[in-house]
Amino acid sequence: MEATIHYLLKDTKVEGPKRRYCIWFQGCSKRCKGCFSKATWDFKGGYKIDCDKLLEDIFKQKHIEGVTFLGGEPFEQYEALEYLSKNIHSKNLGIVCFTGKLFEEIKSSYPNILPYIDLLIDGGFEEDKKDYSRPWVGSKNQKYYFLSERYNENIIKQYKNAFEINIKKNGEFFINGMGDIEELLKKLEYPYKN
Ligand code: SF4
Repeated sequence: MEATIHYLLKDTKVEGPKRRYCIWFQGCSKRCKGCFSKATWDFKGGYKIDCDKLLEDIFKQKHIEGVTFLGGEPFEQYEALEYLSKNIHSKNLGIVCFTGKLFEEIKSSYPNILPYIDLLIDGGFEEDKKDYSRPWVGSKNQKYYFLSERYNENIIKQYKNAFEINIKKNGEFFINGMGDIEELLKKLEYPYKN
């Protein structure tokens, strides 16, 4: 089975609790105004990866506590998402999954996947409800659903939004995390256009 991926980050501290492997799925039909991840919208973009190879790479990372799925819309590649989640869960790694859909929809349309997800964060970014005060989310409508005992509401108090800047050998960089990106790029004197 293959997944279409926008980006993989093998070690991040800002996309969920502790250190995580982070997978950005490619493709999102929701197209929220003000979305930070417009490059993930196009279903023709990204690159294909064999899910077993991806799992092999995840299991090599001995430092991680778990995996975070974001996008794009992970549930638009439901079969790959379920396959990856089931295998990651079987190795006792935690799973955080972001979705632009609402929890009720996930419960009724994709119930088989919920036993593998520890923390589901629902709702796309809503510009008029912008709020960076809670970890990993950018607007007030987004809700945390603790679906196992692995994480609980205390983590919301323990963590704050933050960015990471990953600089590649060729000088290109990739910024991930959550917060006021316009403010950050102004500080870096980097032209920003969303
Ligand atoms: S659901 Fe998420 S990735 Fe999709 S447009 Fe909305 S904020 Fe962007």
